[in-house]
Amino acid sequence: MGSNISIDSGCREVLPGVVMIELPLPYTLGSINVYLVRLADGYLLVDCGMDTETCFRALSQGLAGVGAAWRDIREILLTHVHPDHMGLAARLLKLTRAGLWVHAKDAEYLEELAQADQYRAWCAGVLRRSGVPAGMISQIEAASENIHRSFQRLRPDRLLTGGEKIITSIGELEVLWTPGHSPGHVCLYGEERRVLFSGDQMLELISPNIGWHPERDPLSEYLASLQELARLEIDLILPSHGAPFSGHREWIRRTIEHHDERCSRILAMLDGKRLDAAELVNRLWERSLVPFHYRFAVFEVLAHLEYLERQHKVARAERAGVVQWLAS
Ligand SMILES: [Zn+2]
Ligand SMILES: [Zn+2]
Repeated sequence: MGSNISIDSGCREVLPGVVMIELPLPYTLGSINVYLVRLADGYLLVDCGMDTETCFRALSQGLAGVGAAWRDIREILLTHVHPDHMGLAARLLKLTRAGLWVHAKDAEYLEELAQADQYRAWCAGVLRRSGVPAGMISQIEAASENIHRSFQRLRPDRLLTGGEKIITSIGELEVLWTPGHSPGHVCLYGEERRVLFSGDQMLELISPNIGWHPERDPLSEYLASLQELARLEIDLILPSHGAPFSGHREWIRRTIEHHDERCSRILAMLDGKRLDAAELVNRLWERSLVPFHYRFAVFEVLAHLEYLERQHKVARAERAGVVQWLAS
């Protein structure tokens, strides 16, 4: 490895022994970065890419660019189980025979996602109770069809809980459990190099989607995990989408502010008025959203409402099977 990495293979060495491989995605996020990290023997692969031929080909080319064979990958760690991160996992596990590491909470979440019909019905129920019209729910289901099919059951070799350490060429990397974007999202922190593999926890130009999960308070979990990251010394953030960046404390400050603002806007909208989550989405996003993004917007608003409800700032009232919210 080193200076002889081919430039047109979509990969670049971001630290000695750490190669970022950019894989194309079919939707608006554009691409995902997976990382090959040199171990004493072989490599650790952080995330897999989506289950598409273009993604697979780009990853094969990236590996060839580094001069690595599939079997050189000894461990695969998923930052979380979203389809752009885990989609290729089953295929890669066969090719590499690597060990698979996933946080226990995301392994559970994947079990739910993999029961496609049940999960789809659950989603439709949440949307219905949020006041989303039946026509829009059908469009959302049509747009999510491929995604639902991409979730495959995986059998992790190691269920992470946070605190695990991996010895790599850039020193020890510590698994940090950073729930919020998904229940078992993890980052990898290298103290020696002051580097953070941030997954979808921190992306330079986008504030990551925080979607509602039953019996959880994902927004408060996310904000708490950001506060933990703010305490660390980090010079380089290696995200799953977009370019590496730095300035984590400023980024965290802005992101916390963004969610505070979103909460204030929701509270202002519910002042003296009862609205369902779909009505809040229509008021919060000025542009009309395509069905796929609309679904994420509803779940994001639900995460904010859950957060506000647990602080006794909003209350719910049910009417004809639809949950309406009011300031309390
Ligand atoms: Zn994600
Ligand atoms: Zn992602």
